Amino acid sequence: MPDTSLSLLNRVFGYSAFRGEQAAIIDVVAAGGDALVLMPTGGGKSLCFQIPALLRDGCAVVVSPLIALMQDQVAALKELGIAAAFLNSSLDGASAAQVEREFVSGQLKLLYVAPERLLTPRFQSQLEQARVSLFAIDEAHCVSQWGHDFRPEYLGLSALHERFPAVPRIALTATADAATRAEILQRLDLGAARVFVASFDRPNIRYRISEKTEPRRQLLDFLDEHKGEAGIVYCSTRKKVEETADALRQAGLTALPYHGGMDNDTRRRHQERFLREDGVIMVATLAFGMGIDKPDVRFVAHLDLPRSVEGYYQETGRAGRDGEPAEAWMAWGLQDVVTQRRFIDEGEAEDAHKRIGHAKLDALVGLCEAANCRRVALLSYFGETSQPCGNCDVCLNPPTLWDGTEAAQKLLSAVYRTGQRFGAGHVIDVLLGKTTEKIDRFGHSGLSVFGIGASQTDKVWRAVLRQLVVRGLLEVDHSAWGALKLTQAARPVLKGEETVMLRAIEARPARSKKSRFAPSSGAGVHDDEDPLFLSLRAWRRETANEKGVPAYVILHDATLREIAARRPATLAELGEISGLGTKKLEAYGEAVLEVIAAG
Ligand code: ADP
Ligand code: ZN
Repeated sequence: MPDTSLSLLNRVFGYSAFRGEQAAIIDVVAAGGDALVLMPTGGGKSLCFQIPALLRDGCAVVVSPLIALMQDQVAALKELGIAAAFLNSSLDGASAAQVEREFVSGQLKLLYVAPERLLTPRFQSQLEQARVSLFAIDEAHCVSQWGHDFRPEYLGLSALHERFPAVPRIALTATADAATRAEILQRLDLGAARVFVASFDRPNIRYRISEKTEPRRQLLDFLDEHKGEAGIVYCSTRKKVEETADALRQAGLTALPYHGGMDNDTRRRHQERFLREDGVIMVATLAFGMGIDKPDVRFVAHLDLPRSVEGYYQETGRAGRDGEPAEAWMAWGLQDVVTQRRFIDEGEAEDAHKRIGHAKLDALVGLCEAANCRRVALLSYFGETSQPCGNCDVCLNPPTLWDGTEAAQKLLSAVYRTGQRFGAGHVIDVLLGKTTEKIDRFGHSGLSVFGIGASQTDKVWRAVLRQLVVRGLLEVDHSAWGALKLTQAARPVLKGEETVMLRAIEARPARSKKSRFAPSSGAGVHDDEDPLFLSLRAWRRETANEKGVPAYVILHDATLREIAARRPATLAELGEISGLGTKKLEAYGEAVLEVIAAG
């Protein structure tokens, strides 16, 4: 019986069912049609061209700008017994020539190629000689000149269609917005393509956003919930990356720094270790992660605010590609907002650009301040409506709101009475009625507002202040050393025409280790202390080292976990487990059964 897409999914990949629109996309491409696929990271884009590549005659040519990702995908395909190879600058001349021969003589099912090589006359003539089953254009948003990842070579890819009009094309991206989508369709000449837009929800990611109080302590507490797991900690500056990595190492964690100021060798070595070893924490600047295909990143922590909701979504999206529970955690504070505003204002960009920068930051701050579900807020930014998720900090632990009108009036008055010339520290000292040198010098103890806030703590006042700033009732004047000023929006509040509901500051959350990890979707709670899971992981590490591939190329965490839970006794039982296709069962089945028997 000829293979169907479902039989290939079962037999080769070891998965039982397609996800979302995978089956429909595969049908279109396998039948020779064009498709544009917009799917979030971890959505399962690769199968959308890998299965058509197996169903059609000839070799699929996959264009990808990301060398590391290419190598890992090819390694993973070979593990599945699929004839795959790549051509990029990491190969020496002889190895490249060998791959080219295999391609032209029809020995490959998938060939991954860097875009600059694809367009060379040499490769073009090989394309003529070979039999090409389809073109897959991965990271298709690289064609967008306005995006961050623009690759000029991508503009040349429309030529493929002119030279090979009969070969179907599938373009894929995790970039959601409508403008980029339109640009991809136009620039790649995909006018007739079927467009598939998946939901951008990542249900397995739990979102948590906290106020920054003691960032180092907060981070360590968070990491304590993720012992032995791989994750990324993002910081905004190189210096902070280094300091944070040091601090984590001193706390006994395996943490490595990664930023643009390091020498190439060290950086590459750190990335390798993150990919290949279990449980490495990468402390990095925001650029890290693009093109990292590691499926078992269990958390992404932000110690500083990203620049936009898109940035936040993309960075947090690097967690949990494998669909297993993962956490996106962020600590943010007023200082983040102030610094970023100054950055935008002092930049070289035109005014229109600056306005966009501020608006994007506002949207992100809105998400952080939201008193409703994080996921609902995040998805609505991308134009999707959804229900409260039950898997974010707001849903799980709804913030208490209090009527802060009177507090807001007191604070706004204190700013006004002190002449709108002072920063947060001094204004709060006045409210608290402190005696400081500065208060003496300016005679502020004689003001009517002096001491009117003494019944609240400094911490509460800081929280009130932050919320008034992010809501635009107060602004911070960078040109006057951070002086607070009232805005128009403050007037109705001062006049008592508007009430102000504020979020109460959170008590330090009780540390409940595992309950935090249970996702709403009903997937099991992890028990990573399960000795069988740990032995399987140790076996996997050894096997991966012998083969020189990342551990997840051998078997995914999810698969190991299911094995540990079900303890299969025979090869047939083992074969029932998701992620174990025929080849992997053949290659590792006996070894896995031995680990189970010994455990
Ligand atoms: P993307 O490229 O969209 O980020 P991938 O293609 O890397 O996502 O897939 C993400 C993960 O989901 C991979 O580990 C993959 O093996 C797994 N996966 C994809 N499709 C399925 C499926 N139908 N059933 C089970 N797992 C799947
Ligand atoms: Zn929620």
